[in-house]
Amino acid sequence: MTVACPTRLDAALDALASDPGAHVLAGGTDLMVEVNHGGRRPAAVVAVSRVAELREWALEDDGTLRIGAGVTYTDLMQGRLAALAPGLAEAARTVGSPQIRNAGTIGGNLGTASPAGDTLPVLAALDAEVELASAAGPRRLSIEDFITGPKRTARREGELITAVRLAPAAARDTQEYLKVGTRNAMVIAVASCAVVVQPAARRVRVGMGSVGPRPLRANDAEAWAHEHVDWERGEVDDPDEFGRLVAAAALPIDDHRSTEAYRRHAVGVLGRRGLVRGVRALRDAAA
Ligand SMILES: Cc1cc2nc3c(=O)[nH]c(=O)nc-3n(C[C@H](O)[C@H](O)[C@H](O)COP(=O)(O)OP(=O)(O)OC[C@H]3O[C@@H](n4cnc5c(N)ncnc54)[C@H](O)[C@@H]3O)c2cc1C
Repeated sequence: MTVACPTRLDAALDALASDPGAHVLAGGTDLMVEVNHGGRRPAAVVAVSRVAELREWALEDDGTLRIGAGVTYTDLMQGRLAALAPGLAEAARTVGSPQIRNAGTIGGNLGTASPAGDTLPVLAALDAEVELASAAGPRRLSIEDFITGPKRTARREGELITAVRLAPAAARDTQEYLKVGTRNAMVIAVASCAVVVQPAARRVRVGMGSVGPRPLRANDAEAWAHEHVDWERGEVDDPDEFGRLVAAAALPIDDHRSTEAYRRHAVGVLGRRGLVRGVRALRDAAA
């Protein structure tokens, strides 16, 4: 096995151009598990954890928050970045253990594209874009176009995920991320839900995880919330109906982690809870 350890983005792209089939290795918290279990035997690896450009995040001139693919969960949970993307910070807090959060990256979560990936419902709710680059140049895809199925993406051979791009939270926005698993910590989601409340636009956005082949939006629930949230008083007139619409948008399956029925029920409860919490936070902030 050959291993390239570039320290610059252009060198990483050159390494991938000369061997497009090489596996990209970031924190290794997914890839090395597969290698150790014999699920993958990569002949060539491009390790990108030393590429400084991938570890950076920035607010761009047009207001877009650009988060490098090599930003870790620990980075997402801290300081100004956590304030600009509170839903991602909440999702990051639920991931694995401190060791996994120190090593695991947002780019790796996208690269694996597990239906249970914790950042993915938040990115879906925020209509995030994935930025990719190769020797042929950069391109951007919506999350919807990037994740094509369970553990399947539109990433081409020789491409690197370089960043994810999203709108930062506005002053009164709330972003909730809720997850159900078989225990409180170190657990893969059985169902998860991101609820973003944007009072200025009178909008609620919902992303769901582990209840479909890829992250899903709950469009009917979002439209219902637009009409049924009392934006002045910070109240919802019938949150159970919102939960019902969230559950109705799920496409869950039975597997070793849960039943289809429980997943659907759980995501409805999480959606309802996320909306009530988000709207209540608006009222509390106004008091
Ligand atoms: C004990 C344990 C607990 C975990 N708990 C959770 C959890 O609670 N929630 C959760 O969502 N996940 C969890 N995971 C899974 C894992 O930590 C995350 O998916 C993490 O984000 C993977 O990031 P990484 O940097 O380690 O990726 P890697 O393992 O390095 O890579 C993962 C995949 O993405 C590709 N890839 C990585 N970076 C790039 C890039 N820049 N460009 C192109 N492709 C790339 C790799 O080729 C590989 O296919 C857990 C894993 C372990 C071992």
